[in-house]
Amino acid sequence: MEQLANSLGNATYLTLYRGSDQIGGTCIEIKQGTTRILFDCGLPLEGTQGEPCRPKISGLYKEDTPDIKAIFITHAHPDHYGLLSEVHPQIPIYLTQTAFNIITELSPLVKPNNIGGLNFKIIKNGQTVKINSLNIKAVGTDHSAPDSSAYIIKTGCKTVVYSGDIRRNGRIAFKTDDFIKQSKNADYLILEGTTLSRKRKTSASEENISLKLIRYFEQNKINLIAFSSQNLERFISVYKATRTVNKILVIDPYTAAALEYFKCLGINIPQYNWRNIRILFAPNKQTNLLRDKLKKHSVRKISFDEIISAPQKYILKANFYLTKKLFNHTKNVNLIHSMWKGYLTQKSIFVKYAKQNNIKIKQIHTSGHADTKTLQYIAAEISPKKIIPVHTQSPQKYERLFGNKILFIKDGEAVSL
Ligand SMILES: [Zn+2]
Repeated sequence: MEQLANSLGNATYLTLYRGSDQIGGTCIEIKQGTTRILFDCGLPLEGTQGEPCRPKISGLYKEDTPDIKAIFITHAHPDHYGLLSEVHPQIPIYLTQTAFNIITELSPLVKPNNIGGLNFKIIKNGQTVKINSLNIKAVGTDHSAPDSSAYIIKTGCKTVVYSGDIRRNGRIAFKTDDFIKQSKNADYLILEGTTLSRKRKTSASEENISLKLIRYFEQNKINLIAFSSQNLERFISVYKATRTVNKILVIDPYTAAALEYFKCLGINIPQYNWRNIRILFAPNKQTNLLRDKLKKHSVRKISFDEIISAPQKYILKANFYLTKKLFNHTKNVNLIHSMWKGYLTQKSIFVKYAKQNNIKIKQIHTSGHADTKTLQYIAAEISPKKIIPVHTQSPQKYERLFGNKILFIKDGEAVSL
């Protein structure tokens, strides 16, 4: 079959332009005949602050004659979509509604990303898109970005599965299980391995995060918690813990806007006007950009004076303004950091105030990526013929963990499937 396909000029090639031995910046191409499709179009993590660094991909960029038929994005993290700002505006870009909302509406409130005017196409997880002879199915997975997708690609004679970023410790772990079921016995599994280079070997569940938070939230202290507004699962963990101790969660307009952009996921997504939620209009850039929405939000507005009159009643989502103002009034604060530990650098306002006030920061977090055991489970259950390492700093660990079916592909190398 393979020889026949080759002789017909329909040979299929896989190229990892980036991601074979690094976390982030993923760009994967599947080419059959003259049809070239990209999966993810990311910036390296260290590159997200500066100029976009472009891998050599012909027919992709603004100034090229477009030759990529489509781009499929797995989820709205910049290490998977950040390079889109360089892409030719005619190339169709497929992604879920939530990923689209985050990339085009929510993220630009923090930092402009020059992604407007691109040719976005919304797909739903479960949907198959046919592009010439390739059938590409988006399948929902559990990850820290809401509405993430993996892709199952049928080339005619081969099935290639790309995990995207994946885990099985969130509340929607069942989605990853469904993805496993649909991917069984694939020919190739392109599998992320983010956590393989990390010291912590097991990841707690999101439910467990909620339980840990309750232990601090029930103390007679004010709780200041840092977490990403774009991480819906974490918001739910914090909100559930807040409701359990019957306190009030104080968010900012940016987080309220995020929840509205996630509304497309269903009626069970908490919104700013749900019980035990108030909004502090922190005077910052995001509040200013969201001024049209503030009128609506004002029904839940809370002032800083109201908070400080009974501080132990509130769980405060941290931002620069609030953290600074709070420490001018009280030191009786639980500082909870519910994000990746790597963000706690000397530049962090949490680190500054923890030092100044001799407070220990409580790190309560779990990864958006599968731990080693879960990766082994996913690989064993899918049981593909070959596993291709991606999004990892430890490709050399794959053989020991998943057996002798590893296909190592270097960045830029095209491998015939
Ligand atoms: Zn991610």
